[in-house]
Amino acid sequence: MKKQLAVMLASIVLLAAKAQTNIAKTQTAVPIEMLFPQGKTKALILSFDDGRAEDRQLVQLMNKYGLVGTFHLNSNKLSTNGYLDKAEIKSLFKGHEVSVHSFNHPSLSRLSKIDIVYEIVEDRKELERLMGYPVRGMAYPFGNTNEQVIDAIKGLGIEYARTVGDTYNFSVPTDFLKWQPTIHLFGKTNYIPNDTANDRKELAQFYKLIDDFINTKELVLLDVWGHSWEMGNTQTKWDETERCFKLLANNSAIYYAKQIELVDYIQAFNNLKFSVEKTMVYNPSAITVFFKKNEKVYSVAGGMTINVTNE
Ligand SMILES: [Zn+2]
Repeated sequence: MKKQLAVMLASIVLLAAKAQTNIAKTQTAVPIEMLFPQGKTKALILSFDDGRAEDRQLVQLMNKYGLVGTFHLNSNKLSTNGYLDKAEIKSLFKGHEVSVHSFNHPSLSRLSKIDIVYEIVEDRKELERLMGYPVRGMAYPFGNTNEQVIDAIKGLGIEYARTVGDTYNFSVPTDFLKWQPTIHLFGKTNYIPNDTANDRKELAQFYKLIDDFINTKELVLLDVWGHSWEMGNTQTKWDETERCFKLLANNSAIYYAKQIELVDYIQAFNNLKFSVEKTMVYNPSAITVFFKKNEKVYSVAGGMTINVTNE
């Protein structure tokens, strides 16, 4: 009887151990890490607001270095003094993204809901007429937003909305309607008039961030925002812009993204359908998605299902 009990106990222990091994073999706890297109680990967004005439010089400089921009425009200001002409934006922003910045550039948090809707929908409609594609993103005028504004823009076809709440880090946003960029172009250089000591400090911090972005091995997004009118007709500021663009250009580790492209890519990654054991994955989108599991890089084309090994 005693011996029988001992055998029974031993087999229970054995079964438990076997169950343990099975648990250890499952991959449900193994993290799947997103990579950017082509398995890249760096993404760069450059976005500029207001559509002022100086955008012409900026776009020329970006094109020279093969950089991609996102331009947030107020369509009711286009073709007025100091702004771009409506007739030129389609050819000027070829290869770049045009996005909403509201019709008239008001502070949206001061408006009633119906006026917020008007400002967004009118701008979207006019930009779509001018560009010939669905315009799906925006930047808040003055970076100004609150819950009422966010509530009003939901349902208007806006898939991301950028604030000016700089993070000074490289994290990938999760709440696209409260999108926080990394840093203003050149940080807060020129923010306090005639304070050269502060300008030097801000500029050094800005270039330190660029350096960190280029040298890190982590998955990083650098999102720089600004205005071409800040450079105005000051040659030294344009030279500084060119210096910055040179540092960021022609880097095979960087995914140069329109902001909406990055949004589409992240959505496609988030929509991957993994099996329970994470040994199979189906990609229902039309975008090839790259990810990493156990340090191994995988890509799954749109509409395909692939096997993911368990080693
Ligand atoms: Zn603005």
